[in-house]
Amino acid sequence: MKTIYFDNNATTKVAEEVLEEIRPLFCELYGNPSSMHTFGGQIGRKIAKAREQAAALLGCEPSEIVFTGCGTESDNAAIKGTLAAMPHKRKIITTRVEHPAVLTVCRDLENQGYTIVELNVNRQGRLDLAELEEHLDDDTALVTIMYANNETGMIFPIDKIAELATGKGAVFHTDAVQAVGKIPLNLSKSDIDLLSLSGHKLHAPKGVGILYVRKGTRLSPYMLGGHQEAGRRAGTENVPGIVGLGKACELAAENLQAENSKVKYLRDKLENALSEKCPDCRLNGDTEDRLPNTCNISFEYIEGEAILLMLDKYGICASSGSACTSGSLEPSHVLRAMGVPFTAAHGSIRFSLSRYNTEEEVDYTIEKMPPIINQLRELSPFVTK
Ligand code: PLP
Repeated sequence: MKTIYFDNNATTKVAEEVLEEIRPLFCELYGNPSSMHTFGGQIGRKIAKAREQAAALLGCEPSEIVFTGCGTESDNAAIKGTLAAMPHKRKIITTRVEHPAVLTVCRDLENQGYTIVELNVNRQGRLDLAELEEHLDDDTALVTIMYANNETGMIFPIDKIAELATGKGAVFHTDAVQAVGKIPLNLSKSDIDLLSLSGHKLHAPKGVGILYVRKGTRLSPYMLGGHQEAGRRAGTENVPGIVGLGKACELAAENLQAENSKVKYLRDKLENALSEKCPDCRLNGDTEDRLPNTCNISFEYIEGEAILLMLDKYGICASSGSACTSGSLEPSHVLRAMGVPFTAAHGSIRFSLSRYNTEEEVDYTIEKMPPIINQLRELSPFVTK
């Protein structure tokens, strides 16, 4: 059975071009970039190229790129590194809809005596910037707000938020793990101080990420040891991961516009057809200011997990929440923060597409999904028959 993969916000396929680039780095060009010999030195040049490729996608200087082990590490390093560099400030502002890589860190810091403000979102998943302004004060060390939400695809007005936060003397960090490679970014024109991204969300391998650190930003290193990454992240570099991420950034920069209009067309076709053919369903999140690849739909009276199992029988992969929280019976904290009723939150499904999806796959899913919903509703104790 063919796999139809609509779970690209969880992880993505490594691009063939990326694989080609990294293959020689395992058994032929395996030197340590820190070595003095020529064999190792050539690896250092490959890392330098990857840094340039990443900087070109983000619109920043190569020296502002720090390679890390994943998006979670970048988030942890940004938050903890900022607080360590500013021990006199004790407040962090974030949102209720962040990924656990940010939210869990903030809640842990609250247990250590920091003041944490979690901003609310409305029914459409939008923030109220007046609420942010109310909370910004001299004690605010850091504002950390995601660029785009992994569950709904909602995009926050990050440039405006960065301007407000840095205008009040706070450091501004954004978790852009879901945004990079899906929408254009230009950090040279923004007040963002710190930005996290993750390789495996944009067709690079797992186990590599980036923390962008704007020149002049005060940040204590989070991993101590060797002098790698200019002393900002110790540890022998994941060379294949870094080189692969560089290539993936180059591909994203070259193809962003064309690919995303194709992805958006497919996402809209899927979403419109399901909304039309499946009664009692609702879209979660505003349809404007949204990633082009993400669609989150709630089907009333049935469990998201049951829908996933039925889709799985046809080889269709989707998700009922973020990959990290699926497996839990609690409904998504993002949908609950948006005020989505408990029953609808339980019946939510996320489809997240990529450039590798085809119209045939979308058509096949449109054909299979309505009978699945009808069948599950027949069995549902919540539907009056
Ligand atoms: N932040 C967001 C918004 C994510 O969606 C994810 C992964 O799903 C992460 C952070 C964590 O990234 P990684 O899996 O590279 O640690």
